[in-house]
Amino acid sequence: MKTACYLRMSADRELGIDRQREDCLALIEANGWTPVEYTDNERSATRGVRPAYQQMLTDIEAGAIGAIVAWHPDRLYRKLSDLLPLIDLCNARGVTITTHQAGLIDLGTDAGRLNAKILGAVAENEGERRTARQLRALRQRAEAGKGWGTRAFGYTADDALMPPEADAVREAYTAVLQGATLFRVAQTWNDAGLFTAKGGNRWVGSSVRRVLLNARYKGIREYHGHEYPAQWEPVVTNDVWQSAAAILNDPSRRNGKRVRVHLMTGLMLCGECQRPMGVGTCGDRSHPQRKVYMCKAVGCRKLARDFAKVNALIADRVVERLSRDDAADLIASEAVDMNLLRADAASIHSRLDELADALEQGWTVAQVGRATRTAQAKLDAIEAQMIDANAARIFDGLIGVLDVRAAWAALNVDRQRAVVDALMVVTVHPTKRGRGWHPEHIVVAWRKAEHAPL
Ligand SMILES: [Zn+2]
Repeated sequence: MKTACYLRMSADRELGIDRQREDCLALIEANGWTPVEYTDNERSATRGVRPAYQQMLTDIEAGAIGAIVAWHPDRLYRKLSDLLPLIDLCNARGVTITTHQAGLIDLGTDAGRLNAKILGAVAENEGERRTARQLRALRQRAEAGKGWGTRAFGYTADDALMPPEADAVREAYTAVLQGATLFRVAQTWNDAGLFTAKGGNRWVGSSVRRVLLNARYKGIREYHGHEYPAQWEPVVTNDVWQSAAAILNDPSRRNGKRVRVHLMTGLMLCGECQRPMGVGTCGDRSHPQRKVYMCKAVGCRKLARDFAKVNALIADRVVERLSRDDAADLIASEAVDMNLLRADAASIHSRLDELADALEQGWTVAQVGRATRTAQAKLDAIEAQMIDANAARIFDGLIGVLDVRAAWAALNVDRQRAVVDALMVVTVHPTKRGRGWHPEHIVVAWRKAEHAPL
């Protein structure tokens, strides 16, 4: 008699296929049957789908199989809903089920069917308990601030800081606050010979973004939308993380994947159509080819201005502004003592923690609610102040230095663009005075009235 030898490797790896096969084949041999093997592997991507099991049912339906042998009933069915159609089919075809662990399951009698259902219910319950146990263990790990057990960039597998990577991450937060693009950070990390922790890949903007927006670097363990204080050492303070996240989550940054390599592309508007200008070349027989900023908007394309001259003009305006005596006002954060703010924020955090226990000490819900809201409002104000202060880091190294022009020239184009964008909006106005260079038609509008030259 042809006998189905049904083997299943489940996702929870409790029993290897070889062991199941060995036991089942011994049973089949002892009965003098002929084995036909059906094997499902639920560790694969098709978890929950059992093609071999379906094939076995088809073969039973066709009368090709006289009996089923499995290692344990739970190999055949994990849920009662799997069992009932199997009972019907086996009864209709006179197929018996024998298991190595539980012996013959006689589906021909009421008692045998009841026994099969009980085994099915036990298997189902066991599966649910195992899942619940695993979930509970995961949640407990998270609540205790423990890691995932896999290595994150900047850390060792047991969540200790790994200096070269951790330093790179810390510097990247600073770079972002100073106006660097994710592309630039990726380039820096690649040049330093650093690779992603998972997969060992080269860095791209999106993978850098994922790192910098991961709460683990401010010492937070996330689990299903909840945040728990982590057991590992953070790479940056909470306010630096928040400030960088505010920049990275700014929707206006999501203007495509293009990397800007010119000072003013996208930052200077065409005065005819009010849209950002790009870069191109122009020239004809009487004028040599030259690089220009030009309006590329469909239906406009009217304005173009000399590339090098625009860059020089903008540089002059920036240097002039940053060299003024009141330049320090741009970084109001100098008046802000970050350490003091951090200390204040920490004390409010511990106050909030205490309030969580206040109910047990006889406070009313209303009292706790009021006190919590007051503390939270203070905390929000302090965090907003810290984020403002961090935003001013765009001007790091530019203000209060002896040679502002040299400092400006030393910046990469990302940072120069961030400085321009923080200070001004530039519009090119049309001119009727012919082809010459007319700087007065390139109008700088300062973002804040007080930035305007005196
Ligand atoms: Zn235009």
